[in-house]
Amino acid sequence: MTDAESPNEALNDLHDRLSDQIEELEARTAAPDTDASFSDTAQVTAEIDEQRSLTAELRELLDDVERALARLDDGTYGTCEICSGEIGDERLAEVPATRFCIEHAA
Ligand SMILES: [Zn+2]
Repeated sequence: MTDAESPNEALNDLHDRLSDQIEELEARTAAPDTDASFSDTAQVTAEIDEQRSLTAELRELLDDVERALARLDDGTYGTCEICSGEIGDERLAEVPATRFCIEHAA
């Protein structure tokens, strides 16, 4: 690997990006477009639902990133939570917040 980010940097970048996205989505769902006419209400509600489920997904990812950062701290980063085996650099480069080796990834 050349010029690879350290896992710490990659995870912190990811953390920042996810936090920003979540904030943006939350701001949007907290203040929906109230100018929408009555006939648009269903559409607006559907969009808000979609954004809420997206927010929930991003939160789960953020959770994983935070857990990965904690594991960096305690030195268990890069090992599978199920078999304690090495996750491998290639997989970590692709999914830095993963908790499982390729075999135990759902
Ligand atoms: Zn495993």
